[in-house]
Amino acid sequence: MRRSTEHPRPRLGVFKFASCDGCQLQLLNLETDLLPLLERIELVHFLEASSRAEPEGPFDVALVEGSVTTPGDAERILRIRERTTRLVTIGACATSGGIQALRNLADVEEWKSHVYPHPEWIETLATSTPISDHVKVDVEIQGCPVNKEQVLRVLVRLLLGAGADLPSASVCLECKRQGNPCVLVTRGIPCLGPVTRAGCGAICPSLGRDCYGCFGPAAEPNVASLMRQLEALGLPRADAVRRLRHLNGWRREFREAADALEGRGTERG
Ligand code: SF4
Ligand code: SF4
Repeated sequence: MRRSTEHPRPRLGVFKFASCDGCQLQLLNLETDLLPLLERIELVHFLEASSRAEPEGPFDVALVEGSVTTPGDAERILRIRERTTRLVTIGACATSGGIQALRNLADVEEWKSHVYPHPEWIETLATSTPISDHVKVDVEIQGCPVNKEQVLRVLVRLLLGAGADLPSASVCLECKRQGNPCVLVTRGIPCLGPVTRAGCGAICPSLGRDCYGCFGPAAEPNVASLMRQLEALGLPRADAVRRLRHLNGWRREFREAADALEGRGTERG
């Protein structure tokens, strides 16, 4: 990245929208691995880690966690985008709308009336949507939470002017590389690994349990085919739908497959 005399070091901002903070924590969980990076960049805005707060930037790279759920969010992300060279979304909330996107299939006003004693005080949108629905996103790092080494690698590559180089294959690839017996083939356990993006290191299958899709869809996943196979193995349709409408349920690939299983039309293109 080209440097100015005013800002000789690359400037990083980290922002939170509707989220649990888990992906920002993954960044902090890098611990001493983060220190060499911090010597080479200027950490301009990261409220979870620093009292320095300059939300107006400008930023060479902005990491954005969380989904857009309020009118204020929708305005704030536009301002961040205007002042950022490379905008990177981190985690299922930011890349898919997150678990809170369950509201997209519900009546938010009705839910508010059940949850809050004073629903009239709550200012919210009817939907929870990924950042890419609102502004151009340069890189999406999927996962709930994200893989911390993956975030560090992407950050370093971007700051060096390279591309992000994220995996597009499925969890099965990582699972097979680790020599795991396949829980789907050997035990008939419904595993979402064939349609889920690699990057977690196949943690769940390595522990003898099924992948539940927390990294969101792999590139061009054949979700309908997998769900037919899981149903043939005895997974009830309602459970198949629940598996897809989970942390990444609003991501188009999972949403359309869940809609098809439920016999719904897709809500958006
Ligand atoms: S993607 Fe998961 S870990 Fe990250 S902020 Fe959202 S809920 Fe938390
Ligand atoms: S256990 Fe799951 S992730 Fe591993 S190879 Fe089988 S289907 Fe793929």
